[in-house]
Amino acid sequence: MKHIICIVGNPNCGKTTLFNALTGSHQDVGNWPGVTVEKKVGHYVHDSVDYELVDLPGIYSLTTVSKTGEDERVARDYILSQQAEAVINIVDASNLERNLYLTAQLIEMRVPVMLVVNMLDVAKKRKIEIDIEALGRMLGCPVVGIVASREQGVFALKEMIAEFLKSPTLPKLSLRYAPSIEKAHQEIEQEIQNADSLHPHWLAIELLEGANGSRESLDVATRARVMPIIERTEKEFVGNLDIAVADARYKLVADVSSKVEHKTGELPTTLTDRIDRIVLNRVAGFPIFLFIIYCMFLFTQNLGSAFIDFFDILVGGVMVTGFGELLEAIGVPEIVKVVLADGVGGGLQTVSTFIPVVFFLFFFLAILEDSGYMARVAFVMDKVLRRFGLSGRSFVPMLVGFGCTVPAIMSTRTLPSEHDRKMTVMLTPFMSCSAKIPIYSVFVAAFFPKYKALAMGGLYVFGILIGVLAALVFGKTLFRGNPIPFVMELPNYRLPSLKSVALLLWDKAKDFIERAFTVIFLATIVIWFLQSFDARLNVVTSSEQSLLAIIGRWLAPIFAPLGFADWRCATALISGFIAKESVVSTLQILLGASAVSTLFTTKTALSFLVFTLLYTPCVAAIAAIRREVGSAPRAALIALTQCCVAWLAAFVLYQLVLIL
Ligand code: GDP
Ligand code: MG
Repeated sequence: MKHIICIVGNPNCGKTTLFNALTGSHQDVGNWPGVTVEKKVGHYVHDSVDYELVDLPGIYSLTTVSKTGEDERVARDYILSQQAEAVINIVDASNLERNLYLTAQLIEMRVPVMLVVNMLDVAKKRKIEIDIEALGRMLGCPVVGIVASREQGVFALKEMIAEFLKSPTLPKLSLRYAPSIEKAHQEIEQEIQNADSLHPHWLAIELLEGANGSRESLDVATRARVMPIIERTEKEFVGNLDIAVADARYKLVADVSSKVEHKTGELPTTLTDRIDRIVLNRVAGFPIFLFIIYCMFLFTQNLGSAFIDFFDILVGGVMVTGFGELLEAIGVPEIVKVVLADGVGGGLQTVSTFIPVVFFLFFFLAILEDSGYMARVAFVMDKVLRRFGLSGRSFVPMLVGFGCTVPAIMSTRTLPSEHDRKMTVMLTPFMSCSAKIPIYSVFVAAFFPKYKALAMGGLYVFGILIGVLAALVFGKTLFRGNPIPFVMELPNYRLPSLKSVALLLWDKAKDFIERAFTVIFLATIVIWFLQSFDARLNVVTSSEQSLLAIIGRWLAPIFAPLGFADWRCATALISGFIAKESVVSTLQILLGASAVSTLFTTKTALSFLVFTLLYTPCVAAIAAIRREVGSAPRAALIALTQCCVAWLAAFVLYQLVLIL
C-alpha cells in the first residue's frame, strides 16, 4: 500500500529543501507531460508505510490569467486530478501573509490540505512569532512548523501526514465573497453541476475570475447559460470582477495573519529601511523623485548634447565633407558624389546624433534600475496610474518618453503583462519628447513671448492630458482587462555594479544601434532624396521644386481646417517624421529670409504646435514600436491613430480659438 501526496508553495519558500529532507536521495526528476516544467517524484518510508511525494512547481497563485502560466496550470491540473490523496502546502513564515494567498485558493479548491510553516528561524530573526496552533484552528487543518534547512520538525511532519491520511478531511474555513459574487457563484456552480463538470465549486470561481481556459472547458450549451451570469456580475463590478474575487482572498489572509503573527520586538533598521523612510515618505518622496528625474534629464541633455556636437562634427566631417572631397578627387560623377556623400553620409550623420542622448539616458536608467530605486518609483506611482488602467511600472517608460520615445518604448519590454505593455506603448508617444523642444522654442518666442514658460509647460501638460484621455478610452475599448496586481518585492538598495549596468546598457544600446543603421538610416536617405531631387530626378536648385515640396502641396489641404494650409507647413511636418528637430530646420529652409510670423498667426501657430505635439512619433520611435508590438501594420496603425488624434485635437482647439 502506497500513499501519494504532493507539495505546493510559493517560489523560494523551501519546497525543494523540504522535499529533500523528507525523501533523502530517493527521487526521480523528469518533465511534466507536454511541458518543459520540471517534475520531481520521491519516496520515503515511515512506520513501514510507503509514501510517494510529488514536488509541484513554485507558484504564487493557482489561477492563470497570463498566457504563459505553465507552472500554474501544471500545479492546478495535478491538484484537481486528485491523484494525490492530500496536498502539503508549504509557506514561508517570514512572509506569511503573501504565502497564505495560495492557501486561500487551496481551501477554495476543496481538497485535503496540510499546512507546513517553514523558515521559522528566519521569522524569528525578523522578530516575528507565529502561533502555529491558532493558525491550525483558524484554517481548520493540520499545521506544523519546521526549519527545513536544518531538518527541524521533519519527523513531526511525517507523523502528521501519517495521521492525516487515515481519514483526509477538507479545511474547515470557508471564504466569503461580496454578496452578489456569492450569488453568481452559486448559480454558476449549479449550472456546471448539472452539466456534470468536475470541481464545480472551483471552476465557478475560475469562471468569475476569467482564468485562462476556464470558459473553453465548458460545453457550448453550458457556456451559453453561464456567460450571462458572468457578464451581469462583471458589469456590476465595472470590469474589476477578478480584483473583487482576489480581494476576498486578500482580506481573509490579512485577517488570519494578523491574528496569528506577533511581533516580538523591534527590527533592527537596515540601510534600505532608512533610505526608504525618506524616499517613500509621503511628503518628501515625490519631490525627491522629481529631483532625481530632473538630474537625469539634465545629465542626459548636457552630456548627450556635448557628444551630439562631437558626433555631428566627426561623422559630418569625415563622411560628408571628407568623403565628398575624396570622391571628387578620384573623379566620380557629381551625381554619385551627391548621393554617396550628402545622402548616405548625411544619413549616417543624422543617425549618429541620436546615439549619445539615447546612450546616456540608458546609462542613467540602468543605474536607477540596478540600485533598486526604479522599483520604488513604480511602487509610488502605482496608486495613481491604476485609476487609468495602468500599473506603476508603466510610469518609467512614460517618463523616459519626455526625453526620447525610442528608449521609452524599448523599456516597456520589462513590463510583466502584455496588457500593460501594449497600453504603455500606445500612450508613451503622447509624452512630449525633447526633440520637439526646438519647435516649441521657435514658435513660443515668436508668438507667445510674454508667456514662454506657460506655453511650453502647457504643451507638456496638454500631451499628458490627452494621454490620460487615451488611456481611459483605450482601456475601455481596445485593451480591456486589468493591470496585473502589483506584487513586486522592493529589493534592497545596493551600489550599482559596473557589470550589470554595462550589461543592461549594452543590451539596449545594441538594439538601438542595429535599428538606427537600418530603418532610421533608410528613412533619412528617402527624405533626403525627396528633398534634393525634383520630379525629373534632377538635383533641385530651390527646395520649392523638390519632390518633398510636391508631396507637401498634395497633403496641404488636409491641414486647411486646422488653419495652416500652406504647403511649407505640410512639408516641414513630413520631415518631422524623420526627426522632430527637422520640422524647424525645414521650415527655416523653406521660408528663406522671412520669419515664421509670415506663415502663421497666433491662432494658427497654436494649432500647429498642438498638432506637432501629438502627431506621429518619428521613424526611430515607430521602428521601436514595431518591435514591441510585433508587426509593422500594427505599428503603422498606432502612428496613424496618433495623427488622427493630433488632427482632431488641433481642429477642436483651432475652432474654439476662432470662436473666442
Ligand atoms: P523552493 O524554491 O521552494 O524549492 O525553495 P528552496 O528549497 O530552493 O529554498 C530556497 C532557499 O531557502 C535555499 O537557499 C534554502 O537553503 C533556504 N531555506 C529553505 N528552508 C529554510 C529554512 O527553514 N530556514 C532557512 N534559514 N533557510 C531555508
Ligand atoms: Mg525548488
